[in-house]
Amino acid sequence: MNPKGPISLGFDIGGTNIRGVGLRPDLSFGGVISQPCEDDHEKIIESLIDIAAQIQESERLEIGCVGIGVAGFIDRSGVVRTSPNLSTFKNFPLLEKVSCELDVPVLIENDATSATWAEVQLGVARESENAIMVCLGTGIGAGLYFNSELLRGASGFAGEVGHMTIVPDGLPCPCGRSGCWERYASGSALGDIAEKLRSDGRIGHLNGDEFEAGRPVSSERVAQLVLKNDGEAMKVLEHFSDWLAMGLVNLVNILDPQSVVLGGGITQLGEHLLDPVRKSFGRLTPEHSLRSQDLIVLAEFGNKAGAIGAALLAKQNLLAQKR
Ligand SMILES: [Zn+2]
Repeated sequence: MNPKGPISLGFDIGGTNIRGVGLRPDLSFGGVISQPCEDDHEKIIESLIDIAAQIQESERLEIGCVGIGVAGFIDRSGVVRTSPNLSTFKNFPLLEKVSCELDVPVLIENDATSATWAEVQLGVARESENAIMVCLGTGIGAGLYFNSELLRGASGFAGEVGHMTIVPDGLPCPCGRSGCWERYASGSALGDIAEKLRSDGRIGHLNGDEFEAGRPVSSERVAQLVLKNDGEAMKVLEHFSDWLAMGLVNLVNILDPQSVVLGGGITQLGEHLLDPVRKSFGRLTPEHSLRSQDLIVLAEFGNKAGAIGAALLAKQNLLAQKR
C-alpha cells in the first residue's frame, strides 16, 4: 500500500539509456523504467514525458517534482552546457523545457553527483561523512561528498576525475587530451584492454567467436566470460583492476575518504570485480593497512543510483520550498 502524498520522479539520462523511477513519500521506490536514449533532445523530452506518465499510472500518486541526472557539465540554472555522449545537449535549457512540459518544479544535476547522493543518503555509504563515488560507464564520472555535503566546485563542474592523466602521451581521449584515466578504466575500457592484450599476444582466445569474426571484443562479452571464470577474461580483468586502482589511489591520497563507492554497469560483476581492485589498490598503497579494509565498496543501487539520487535531491530541494 502506498502512503499518501506526491511522488518525486527521478531520471538518469545517459549516452545509451534513459532511466526513470518514482520515489515515494516514505523513500521506497518502484521499478525502473528504461528506454533507449537517442542523441536528439526532442526525443529525449518525449521519453521523459512517456516514462513520467507510466510511473504516475502505476503509482497512482500526484507528481510533486522531478530530478534529472545528466552526464555532462550542468550550470546552476539547469542548462546543460555540454554532454560527452549527447551532442544534442549544447547549451540546452533542459530545466526550462521539462518544467514547461510536466508543469512541476525540476532540478537538474550531474549524473555521477546524483548517484552519489543516493548512495550516501540511502545506500552503501550512508554511514560515511566523507565519500567518493566513482561511476564506471562510457567514461568515468565521480561524485565527491565531504563533511556531509556534496562538493560541486566553483562552477559546479567538480568530480571530472575521468580526465586526470594516467599515461602521458597515452590513448587519445574525446576531451582532446591523451592518456586520460577513463580510456583505461571506464566500463567501455574493459573491451579495449582485451583487444590490446590479444593483439600483443598476452592472452589467448577469449573463449568466444569475436576474434574469428574479426569484430572488436565488447566489455559486455568480457564481463560475461568473467562470470564464467574464463581464465583469459580474468587476466583482462586483472589488468583493468590495476588501471582502476591507479586512479583510485590518486583520489584517496588527495581526499582521504571513509568510503570509495564503485558504480556503473560493470559493478554487476560483484566480488569478481571488487576482489582484484582491492588487491591492486593494496599493492599500490603500502600504507593501506592504516585505512579501512572495506574502503572500496560496490554501489547498493547499481545502475538505478542516478535516477534515485536525482529524485531524492529534487524532493529535498524543491518539495520543501513548495510547502
Ligand atoms: Zn580526457
